[in-house]
Amino acid sequence: MTKIRDEILTANRRYADSFGDKAKLALPPARGFALLTCMDARIDPARLAGLAEGDAHVIRNAGGRASDDAIRSLVISHKLLGTNEWFVIHHTNCGMELFTDDIMRDLLSHSLATATYDGTRWSDPGGGGGSHAGDFIDWLTIKDLAASVVVDVERIRQHPLVPRTIPIHGYIYEVTTGRLVEVPRASELGRAR
Ligand SMILES: [Zn+2]
Repeated sequence: MTKIRDEILTANRRYADSFGDKAKLALPPARGFALLTCMDARIDPARLAGLAEGDAHVIRNAGGRASDDAIRSLVISHKLLGTNEWFVIHHTNCGMELFTDDIMRDLLSHSLATATYDGTRWSDPGGGGGSHAGDFIDWLTIKDLAASVVVDVERIRQHPLVPRTIPIHGYIYEVTTGRLVEVPRASELGRAR
């Protein structure tokens, strides 16, 4: 047992002990919407958007980007589980703004160990064991936060498997205030037609 594993299993026992009526929840999200956001540990989608178990689909990845796999989940969310309103939520101080494809590929080519960031530059601890496999991955980094929300909403909007009737809203979550701030251009592009 690791310490984290112990902590998680203890917390889970407590959760399961008071599980109550959640056993009766239906599979399709009761409130009929989905949100795509970053995996950042500071973001708690349930609390920031007032969700309870069973309410909505939450799709997360690094950056909350509209990757092929995020779109796969959204299409399933609507086509099989009936969501009909979607939100793309990126956030301030996102780690995806702190590197480029070239930086990531270079770090990975040196070693697989965790790199360090001094506030300006990334350094790899070295020691070998790196790989060039990272050269073949689009890391979907972010240069401009509002622009990335616009690009992602537009990409989802234009996808041939996404119905035009689904509104797609674009927001930035502020990690310093807890507020959601709309990206008007993104929401305009994501408007239902
Ligand atoms: Zn992030």
